[in-house]
Amino acid sequence: MASKQNPAPKDKAADEITYLRPVSNCSGCGDTKVSWSVREGMRRFNRQLKLKGKDRYELIYAADRGCGNLQGYHAYGIVDAIFCMGSGAIVGDGIKESCSEKQLVVTASGDGAYNFNISGIKFAAKNKKFGAINVIYNNYNIRMTGGQIPLEVDFDKEGSALGFEVIHINPYRVDDNAELFKELYGRYLKKEKIMVVADGVCVLDMGKTAKDSGIRMGRFIRSDECLDLKFAKERERVAREEPEKLKDMPKFKCRLCGIGLRCHALLDNDPGKCFGCGACIQFPCPVGALSFEGPSFSTSISITELKKT
Ligand code: SF4
Ligand code: SF4
Repeated sequence: MASKQNPAPKDKAADEITYLRPVSNCSGCGDTKVSWSVREGMRRFNRQLKLKGKDRYELIYAADRGCGNLQGYHAYGIVDAIFCMGSGAIVGDGIKESCSEKQLVVTASGDGAYNFNISGIKFAAKNKKFGAINVIYNNYNIRMTGGQIPLEVDFDKEGSALGFEVIHINPYRVDDNAELFKELYGRYLKKEKIMVVADGVCVLDMGKTAKDSGIRMGRFIRSDECLDLKFAKERERVAREEPEKLKDMPKFKCRLCGIGLRCHALLDNDPGKCFGCGACIQFPCPVGALSFEGPSFSTSISITELKKT
């Protein structure tokens, strides 16, 4: 919904050109990767149905406050309603009652606040008028209040007992997840109830565990075809040869991957800041300039599995 207030040029993130240092979570944060997929899935859903302009379905994303959701609140056009921990699902239930049939509501919380959201999640499951897509950012931690360990939840048992189909995803498989959300929007319209559990979204914890286990995570690679790298060279030339023209040039040409995945390693073009999450493997760079080398969490979030690669 926020994209209406801040329309992005076609194929560009809303603030792709203007922000020097966009607000972001940690490099490699799985939450930002999932919210990219939520939004991209809606774009693909509309494209699949050949819907344009006011005929398009619109995403409304109602979230709790936390790592999983603050990251999208600013100019990125992700989060439409954000209040406090425990509010995402119940606020989303209310929005469904007041929005149009072209507006699809996705609700989200972390695993810690899942338990604060139970009543809203139950309402969503029992409401026969609307479908439900409820995302759980599962980082096994309550980061916003100091890193407490949340109540243990068996999402498969609880989710299905409440009336949801529970789907676990690897947050770093951004293209696969966008395809999944594209499919889920169709199922939402059939009033189905889906709980998506994004496991292992905290790359800081996982990176430390991997390091302690002797695993050297990989890094992203950008080829010279990157539009932004090419443009940076052009800016350098202009600065040298025609400095009076520099003030009229934008600072960046393309920051689609950095803004979309909200990753400082990409925004600063600094592989040293890359945590090896591996989201870059699947990111659809328009010129195919982005790749990744080495072990990544997009292969598996299990250290045991990663050790085998
Ligand atoms: S793999 Fe890509 S998205 Fe992940 S931390 Fe590295 S640069 Fe950022
Ligand atoms: S790697 Fe691709 S998406 Fe990222 S800034 Fe360069 S051209 Fe844009």
